[in-house]
Amino acid sequence: MAVYNPKSLKAEEFINDEEIRETLKYAEENKNNVELIDSILKKARPYKTENGTKCDGLTHREASVLLACEIPEKIEEIYKIAEEIKLAFYGNRIVMFAPLYLSNYCVNGCLYCPYHMKNKHIPRKKLTQQEVRDEVIALQDMGHKRLAIEAGEDPVNNPIEYILECIKTIYSVHHKNGDIRRVNVNIAATTVENYRKLKEAGIGTYILFQETYHKQSYLELHPTGPKHDYDYHTEAMDRAMEGGIDDVGLGVLFGLEMYKYEFAGLIMHAEHLEAVHGVGPHTISVPRVKHADDIDPSAFDNSISDDIFAKITACIRLAVPYTGMIISTRESEQVREKLLRLGVSQVSGASRTSVGGYTEAERPHDTEQFDVSDQRTLDEVVSWLMDNGHIPSFCTACYREGRTGDRFMSLCKNGQILNCCHPNALMTLTEFLVDYASEGTREKGYKLIEQELKKIPNEKVREIARRNIEDIKNSNKRDFRF
Ligand code: SAM
Repeated sequence: MAVYNPKSLKAEEFINDEEIRETLKYAEENKNNVELIDSILKKARPYKTENGTKCDGLTHREASVLLACEIPEKIEEIYKIAEEIKLAFYGNRIVMFAPLYLSNYCVNGCLYCPYHMKNKHIPRKKLTQQEVRDEVIALQDMGHKRLAIEAGEDPVNNPIEYILECIKTIYSVHHKNGDIRRVNVNIAATTVENYRKLKEAGIGTYILFQETYHKQSYLELHPTGPKHDYDYHTEAMDRAMEGGIDDVGLGVLFGLEMYKYEFAGLIMHAEHLEAVHGVGPHTISVPRVKHADDIDPSAFDNSISDDIFAKITACIRLAVPYTGMIISTRESEQVREKLLRLGVSQVSGASRTSVGGYTEAERPHDTEQFDVSDQRTLDEVVSWLMDNGHIPSFCTACYREGRTGDRFMSLCKNGQILNCCHPNALMTLTEFLVDYASEGTREKGYKLIEQELKKIPNEKVREIARRNIEDIKNSNKRDFRF
């Protein structure tokens, strides 16, 4: 039987079934152990040091105890700490992005995804380079600067060369003042060599959702195709890091398996990356299974309520305080509003999950990967974020200044965020307001920026940011960054 070892490179040793079961048992036994829960909460709290605020995070066992706890006052405390951590490391900034679907050709048989190979009635589509260009122009015209490209797995229709060509095309498009400055990639698990090619193509984060950490369920949910190989899929992030990609994004598709099992697996995966590569995941996504073409979410009997979903999000925030958290338009405005306070730092806006969807006047459904709950425009999402006290940020500076992997984490850990990320957020928001926003949003944004500039502690940085913002307003100069 496999023995738990976070440093191992073997899937069944670093995501160890026995360790997860022991963890769940321990969590269940201690879910009313107030003394233990208080000590875990104490450990999770941010604290001040000479170099700014720090946080120690939680182990998968500690975090699992919090997730199991059902004492209302303790849950409130978890939420409060999650919000404190979010504000300490990410401030009130929310990074914006959009998915771009390149191709829905797929040879896998994933039971929850409408792109599965046996689905014969959805049209199969793959963007040509001209279509990629048109989609990117449409996205730039909304104001997007950061994309996550998505594709099914198909070595014939979507080989790595196709993905690389699309990335090149995306970066080459500059429509009016538009620019895509960071392309994150969400494609199937691949080889070290291919990860190296993606790194050379200048990608930001490599994102791959585990779907489920439960091996038996994984095998049943992926009955056919290359994705059936649980070990190859689970070990993908190690290959990505070996290929030189140091920002990787984890995720679980909640609803497929028991959430407590998934949660423990997810935190163990983060611990594994930290133990082996010295840097944890750059982001964690929390997608939930949605209705789509021939997919009925109720076919999966592990769906979770909005309250449990919020608790999971907050517990992830406490366990891995320096990891960004992403929530997509799979969730409604109401759910997103709640989760933003509990630690989410990145949201998508105005997403279309169909291949070629951005160039269509109406949101097309025929090639959609899942139903979009939040259907507002980017301008509406930006305006709403500001109404709720957040700063929508279109910043991509860290990756372009080489602050990836542990270099990003050290910026975070040294409390330099307010002198760096904060002015970058304000400058990129100004770009959005000047180039793409409606009048109402622009007015609201300028007021917010004026207030937020005052929060930059370093006087010199504050003055430069102010000057750059004026330059953006009065000229076509763009892309300032710290
Ligand atoms: N094909 C790639 C792979 O296999 O990893 C990744 C791209 S896929 C377009 C992106 C993600 O969408 C999947 O990893 C899955 O978690 C999610 N997804 C698939 N079907 C979904 C559904 N019905 N509802 C919500 N999310 C879904």
